[in-house]
Amino acid sequence: MKPFAYDRATHPSDIAFADAGAAIIAGGTNLLDLMKLEVMTPDRLFDINRMDLSSIQQTENGGLKVETLVTNSDLAADMRVRQHWPVLSRALLAGASGQLRNKATTGGNLLQRTRCHYFYDTAMPCNKREPGSGCGAMGGVNRINAVLGTSDKCIATHPSDMAVALRALGATVEVRKKSGAVQSLPLGTLYVLPGDTPERETVLEAGDLITAVCLPPPVKGRQIYRKVRDRASYAFALVSVAAVVEVVDGKIARADLAFGGLAPVPWRDGAVEELLIGNAPSTSLFDAAADQLLRTAKGHGGNDFKIPLARRTLKAVLEEATR
Ligand SMILES: Cc1cc2nc3c(=O)[nH]c(=O)nc-3n(C[C@H](O)[C@H](O)[C@H](O)COP(=O)(O)OP(=O)(O)OC[C@H]3O[C@@H](n4cnc5c(N)ncnc54)[C@H](O)[C@@H]3O)c2cc1C
Ligand code: SF4
Repeated sequence: MKPFAYDRATHPSDIAFADAGAAIIAGGTNLLDLMKLEVMTPDRLFDINRMDLSSIQQTENGGLKVETLVTNSDLAADMRVRQHWPVLSRALLAGASGQLRNKATTGGNLLQRTRCHYFYDTAMPCNKREPGSGCGAMGGVNRINAVLGTSDKCIATHPSDMAVALRALGATVEVRKKSGAVQSLPLGTLYVLPGDTPERETVLEAGDLITAVCLPPPVKGRQIYRKVRDRASYAFALVSVAAVVEVVDGKIARADLAFGGLAPVPWRDGAVEELLIGNAPSTSLFDAAADQLLRTAKGHGGNDFKIPLARRTLKAVLEEATR
């Protein structure tokens, strides 16, 4: 591990001193692994664990504000979340292990880095880790890589389960900018697709601090999180679907759907939702929704199986949600 300076930040304004070479550390469950492997080599760490950002509060509109240091365990166990946003609780419990969830934080979970094998191996080319070095996963071992939203520079997936549920729920992320201004970003606009610059994963800049995630008020409908993975626990998603689906008078009235394991960002496709809404549930409708979702999907050999797997998983979730 490369030497680094360590600062204990006690107030969000302390982070404003962070420059491009610095990193924020929360639970450390991803960052420390990356530092040990010298994939990330910050020259300075800002430890935010002493900040007063660990509460979950009801908002005036009936939503929930989850501060950044709330652990994945505490968020999953919160009775309000379990009752009104169960898809979030289930997604959290489908991730990592009990010990990891006790340390992992809300902000850190959103900003965890990809699990692409080549990103973690500094002997291999990786445009995300070292821009311009090439992409080892293209033509390499890419079973876990993405089939949607990729570029010719990078086919990594975003690994978070929690972010997929938050995307389906229409959550927003509160960011304290380096300037001190507070911004509220829909989760879908926090992340950026790899394009020509896969090293850039979000719109955040050095010195920006995620302070909270806000859930909108609960909505009617059935909530499901289905995660398909190689082991029953302690494995990242090959494909996951977060769904909030409501049927009224035999027709689909709401179909908020987000997908994990398929793309470099938690994926949501408005065209799939439009296709479903207003129609009676049926196998042919669900097939059409899968066609729509996967219309631009592109496999890279080892991950070709994800395309039919995503179809089957989406259809199974829709069948369960509309039963
Ligand atoms: C063996 C293993 C299995 C796992 N399995 C899963 C799984 O199945 N599903 C899943 O979703 N996850 C899984 N994880 C990942 C785990 O969920 C993440 O490591 C964890 O959520 C990261 O949170 P953290 O607080 O530890 O982040 P850290 O490691 O502290 O930080 C992660 C990143 O976020 C940045 N950061 C942290 N907080 C802030 C903030 N407030 N503002 C700005 N930047 C910030 C850091 O600078 C760093 O770049 C697994 C991890 C391991 C080690
Ligand atoms: S897919 Fe992205 S993260 Fe993986 S090797 Fe290629 S550039 Fe690196």
